[in-house]
Amino acid sequence: MSYRQSARSALVTLLSTLLALWIAAPSAAQPPLRTRNVVLIVSDGLRWQEVFTGADPTLLNEAHGGIWDKEEDLRREFWRTDAAERRRALLPFLWGTVAVRGQIFGNQALGSIARVTNGKAFSYPGYNEMLTGHADARIDSNEFGPNPNISVLEWLNTLPEFHGKVSVHATWATFKNILNVARSHLPLQVGWDLPYHGNLTPPQQLLIRLYETTTRLDDEDLYDAFLQVPLLDSLDKQQPRVLFVGYGETDNWAHSGRYDLVLHSAHAFDGYVRELWERLQALPAYRDSTTFIITTDHGRGSGLVEWKEHGVEQKGSEDIWIAVMGPDTPSLGERRQIAEVHQAQIAATVAAFLGKDYPHAVPAAAPPIAEALGRGR
Ligand SMILES: [Zn+2]
Repeated sequence: MSYRQSARSALVTLLSTLLALWIAAPSAAQPPLRTRNVVLIVSDGLRWQEVFTGADPTLLNEAHGGIWDKEEDLRREFWRTDAAERRRALLPFLWGTVAVRGQIFGNQALGSIARVTNGKAFSYPGYNEMLTGHADARIDSNEFGPNPNISVLEWLNTLPEFHGKVSVHATWATFKNILNVARSHLPLQVGWDLPYHGNLTPPQQLLIRLYETTTRLDDEDLYDAFLQVPLLDSLDKQQPRVLFVGYGETDNWAHSGRYDLVLHSAHAFDGYVRELWERLQALPAYRDSTTFIITTDHGRGSGLVEWKEHGVEQKGSEDIWIAVMGPDTPSLGERRQIAEVHQAQIAATVAAFLGKDYPHAVPAAAPPIAEALGRGR
């Protein structure tokens, strides 16, 4: 090889190296994420069927839906012939804002599947999967007791930048076990625990009176409306960077066989999410820097009877839905013909939005939902 030939070959090598670097650059150097805060919100046992198609016409009656409302009133509120209008009547914020600005997974009619992988499809195994990033076969009862697994909330709370900035508000008292408060020391406002202490304002006194005097569905489950007030109150003082909010009525009213109350509580849940979004967007620490992840812990059965229950006996209880909206999530709306996503991915997704690699710390954890982070291939 002559000098000229070798110089040319060196130049070719240099150019091809530069070309390779230039091609690799867009994926190697991702732009920094704009999310600084993540809010993970759950409506317990709200089916993907209602989320994507709205009220089920076969259950808008006393015979199968167990409704106490007048059929015509319920239909006026929630029935529309067109499925897109119907789901929007039920969940106006989810369909008018979240699914427009963000993404929603789980419409099986469009080739998008979101599933639990725990094989149980009831609450404790679901929240364990969602919050720790992996299913645990040992957890086979809602009365399992303190969770041996560390959740992404507990893990984030051990990191200096998030310590003391993780907050949990949930209607279900069992979160004390799911998040193992004795070990995690996470601040939890759950169940019927009184939300205010010390010198109370008149509105706070009134809410405490209602906590103490309202007839309870049971001792473990607070009403969603009673959760919302102290949740909103807490934001000014606490300003959490990681917030978990668990609403429970959509599950409880289905177990009670009251489809009218399932619809009313799903609609109210949608309003609470809107209220939380608007309240946070009004605060400088959250404006344009907050991602919402909205989902459910399990699906339910289908048909005229099995909609009330969920678990291995009720086929389809493993099917869920996951919605994401925030400054880093591409506005791709209702996802279609896309790879299956899993409940176990939610933990790593929460961490990834905050720039943290949860599966690196907890190898059993599933990877984040790259598509929601705008990092899909
Ligand atoms: Zn349930």
